[in-house]
Amino acid sequence: MSDHYVKVKVQLEQMKSLGEDAEKEHVDAEEQVPVSSLRASVSPDPSSITIASRDASNTSITCKQRGKSRSKLGKDDNSSSGKHISDLSSHGSVVSAHVGKNLNRPGHDSTLHIKGTGEILQSKSETNGNYATIHPSKNIQEARHEDGFKLARKRRPVTVDTAKAKTSLEALKLSIKQLKWKEFPLGRRAACDIYWHGVSFHDNENIVSGQVNKFPGMIEMLRKINMSRAVRTMQELFPEEYDFYPRSWILPEEYQQFSTQIRMVKENDATVNPTFIVKPDGGSQGDGIYLIRDPSDLKLMAGSQAKQAVVQEYIHKPLLIDKLKFDIRLYVLVKSMEPLEIYIAKEGLTRFCTEPYQEPSQKNLSHVFMHLTNYSLNVHSGNFVHSDSHSTGSKRTLSSVLYRLAAKGVDIKKVWSDIIALVIKTVIAVVPELKVYYQADIPPGKPGPTCFQILGFDILMMKNLKPVLLEVNSNPSMRIEHEQEVAPGVFEYVPSPVDKEVKVGVIRDTLRLMDPGHKKPSIQSSQPRAEHGEEIRMEAETQERSPDEGALPSLCLKQVYPKYTKQFSHLRLVERIAALFIRFLGVKGNMRLGPTAFRTFIRTCKLSNSNFTMASVDILYIDITRRWSGATPDSREAGMGLQAFVEAFFYLAGRRFKSLALREQVTSLLALCEAQLDSPTAVEDRRSVSCSRALPRGNRAQTLGPSNPQLNSPAPLRRAASQDYRLHQRLKPRTLRANVEN
Ligand code: ADP
Repeated sequence: MSDHYVKVKVQLEQMKSLGEDAEKEHVDAEEQVPVSSLRASVSPDPSSITIASRDASNTSITCKQRGKSRSKLGKDDNSSSGKHISDLSSHGSVVSAHVGKNLNRPGHDSTLHIKGTGEILQSKSETNGNYATIHPSKNIQEARHEDGFKLARKRRPVTVDTAKAKTSLEALKLSIKQLKWKEFPLGRRAACDIYWHGVSFHDNENIVSGQVNKFPGMIEMLRKINMSRAVRTMQELFPEEYDFYPRSWILPEEYQQFSTQIRMVKENDATVNPTFIVKPDGGSQGDGIYLIRDPSDLKLMAGSQAKQAVVQEYIHKPLLIDKLKFDIRLYVLVKSMEPLEIYIAKEGLTRFCTEPYQEPSQKNLSHVFMHLTNYSLNVHSGNFVHSDSHSTGSKRTLSSVLYRLAAKGVDIKKVWSDIIALVIKTVIAVVPELKVYYQADIPPGKPGPTCFQILGFDILMMKNLKPVLLEVNSNPSMRIEHEQEVAPGVFEYVPSPVDKEVKVGVIRDTLRLMDPGHKKPSIQSSQPRAEHGEEIRMEAETQERSPDEGALPSLCLKQVYPKYTKQFSHLRLVERIAALFIRFLGVKGNMRLGPTAFRTFIRTCKLSNSNFTMASVDILYIDITRRWSGATPDSREAGMGLQAFVEAFFYLAGRRFKSLALREQVTSLLALCEAQLDSPTAVEDRRSVSCSRALPRGNRAQTLGPSNPQLNSPAPLRRAASQDYRLHQRLKPRTLRANVEN
């Protein structure tokens, strides 16, 4: 099957290459097909050199009534610690942009090193999180193809399918126009180089090549509950490094822990009266958010009505400007997952509240314009200030705010370096599960696109200048218009200069980084690395431009990873656990480990012995899997997901290396498992994994109890399960470690 896929992919690549090398003379209009057309079909590319994009600067104005004005499409959000990275020569330039220097001016001397991308048809294992093994002959083919491609690049612009771009369309059109690339607003019969999706990886199906601006699973991973779980796992391993995320509880499952802990805090010190913010799991734009001061104020509903939400410690001393609370929207490009490449936009947005801030009290808890910085809420306040200036009004550039802080004597280099650390650590927390999604959607050997994604980080500055992560948006709004009330209750979309400056830069430079014809400098050799724990000084980098980038401004995206690999690579422990998990998944398309595959993992890594028998292994599997399936009721399939596997792994590590602290326990067990998997006998064992299928997707009816025919030892399991399960059934995920004993 995989050979077949590889052959098909190579054929497609060759045909595409041939088609592109031939001079194209057909008109564009004939190429623009309804989006439903099969994207995998290949025909010679008849594109001409003319640019199809229309001038988006004449933004059309839409009149809307209040209340109907917000699009909910696809959660488009429309809206530390750590070592100090002295990295700020480039950010200093952002600040100076507001004292007369234009950040985007060509020839700006403190610029980023452009890291080119893998060529369009390069193996995904090199570029982006796919794990296909590359056959040597394929490398040669690719090298030939790259040469051919570079020649072709001189003659034709990069093609971008914008049919699914949704609200990012205007900014995308402007970016494509600036790059002199070619837009296909209705899609295209032949493959495009880049597909721009407004919502998710799956906006277009059947893409077999090129690059898509979304990763599979990103929406799911960044939902509030999943995100909290992923960060919490990291907090268990690295508590000091992950103290930038407020303490959170997942509702309804952790209601008891939440109320008990708060009651104890209050009993210990009667003067303490903390505030909490409750956020519905699937919410965005501040929808459904409220503040509480006591667990009894939670609006919980019973049974299946129970609302999934995160309740979080409320940061009650935020940094204020003009007496107003504000938050930072930072754009982050995950350019590739394998190897991990992260870029941060040097310019971002700040969104201001519209009512002067006061610390939370029973009286002001419901004042959303005081406590919530969401643009989509505050735009409806009478105090909202639309401004053409980047440094005033209710939405400003990040650089203008940093400039103001610098003028007050704030060490903004330290602030910026803390923000970079927060971003890298957060991405490291979510990558393990993203890799599971990735291999399920684009299994090794299956033709598919490579992925990249722009994320929107929402960051709050505390009064003591420590950045706090609020959330990460998988679909940050890329609108360059904003709503304005032109008559009472009548809203129009009008161009927003601040949004345009920031967002067009981010999209255009993302495209430049993803340019399939761009020379790819060696990450390993070209970039100096700092040792772990060492302070990093960021040298001024020289901008690398491809000849046809001409007068484009220097990149507004700055590489932070692998730039700072050495400082952060020690945090990538869960990714190694995920690699084990993926290895034992066994069947393409699966995201969950079946009981037999779990046993195979234990056996291959030699983790069972007379004190920890295979019957105990089965109990462990059942116990953890049952509790996690209760904790994630909307999961698509039965079996053990990554988070449950991580819990099992922590438990196994604890048993094996009792005297060590958790992080050392996990590191030691990983080393042990990896050594076992490298040993020759493990190869034989692993073969059996392909037979030990995990439960297929959608097969939720299948139970994991003794009647499950996939369990090899039903009798001892039944016995043990009936005794041991009762002991553990009330325990919640993550509380098992010390409790399962044999
Ligand atoms: P949404 O996705 O609905 O926008 P957020 O998590 O971004 O949800 O929260 C909405 C707003 O609430 C934020 O922009 C911020 O102003 C405020 N907020 C969120 N979490 C906290 C917190 N822990 N402490 C203080 N303010 C918060």
